[in-house]
Amino acid sequence: MRARHRLTFEVPGPHGENGYQVEIHEYFDRIGFSYQPISETATHVERVAPVQVVEKLAATASGIFRDLELQPKALVIGIKESLGIGDVGYEGRAIVSRNGLVYIELELCSFPLQDVDYWEGILWHEAMHAKYILGRRWPSIWPFYLPDAGSVWALDCLLHFSIDGWLEKNNKPFVFWTPSEQPDADFKSSRLHELREGLQNSGCTVEESVLTKIAADLWGRETNIWEVWKIMQRLGLTISEATRLGRYLRGHKTRFIKSS
Ligand SMILES: [Zn+2]
Repeated sequence: MRARHRLTFEVPGPHGENGYQVEIHEYFDRIGFSYQPISETATHVERVAPVQVVEKLAATASGIFRDLELQPKALVIGIKESLGIGDVGYEGRAIVSRNGLVYIELELCSFPLQDVDYWEGILWHEAMHAKYILGRRWPSIWPFYLPDAGSVWALDCLLHFSIDGWLEKNNKPFVFWTPSEQPDADFKSSRLHELREGLQNSGCTVEESVLTKIAADLWGRETNIWEVWKIMQRLGLTISEATRLGRYLRGHKTRFIKSS
C-alpha cells in the first residue's frame, strides 16, 4: 500500500491501554484514510476502495463536519473490509481520543465501496456520535469498553433515539434496516424494535407503552450518558461495576453528587 503515517489516539482508559494506533495510508481533503483490507495488494485495495470514491467520501465527510461545526484535531476514516458474510456486526463506529482526534471506522460488508449515498447516512450517524463525545456528553466507549460489561448495547441503542431523531428532523441522510416482522416500520419504529429486541434478549419485560414513551421523549433531542444510564437502570439493565465502564459510570455519579 502507499505511504504510511501513524497516529496514536489517546483514548480514555486505564493505564497501559490508552493508546490506540491508527495507520493512515493517504489523505484526501485533509482527511486521513486508513485501509484494513483482507489482502494488502495494491490492486485489491484499489478494487475495494477506488480512489475516486474515497475522494467523494472525503468531500462528504468534510461537509458533514462543517455542517455540525465540529473541528476535530484530525479526522481519520477507516475502511475495514469485513470477513464475515451475512454476519453483520456494525457498519460504523466512532472513536474519539482525549485530545480530539476522531476516527470513524466503516466496515464494509459489501464491497467495493461504491454507494456513497449509503455511506453518507452512516457517516452522518457516526459524526453525531463524535459530536456527543467531543462535547463531553458521552465517553468514547470504543474500542476499550468491551461488551462483557453487560448491557453496553443499550447505551448506544438509547442514544440512537437522540441521534437518529435529530437526523430525521433536520432532513439529513440516514440509513436503517426494516425489521422483517415490521416491514412498514419508519426510522423511529425500527430503532424501537432494536430496543425491544435487546430487552427481550436481556430477559427484561417492559411494557410497550413505557418504551414508546422513552422513544418519543428522546427522539431528536439532546441527551447525555447520565440520563441514558438512568433510563437503563429504570428498564432493569445493568453494567457490571467490575468493568471499566461500570467504574466510569459509578465514578461520575459520585462526582456529580459531590458537586451538586
Ligand atoms: Zn450508533
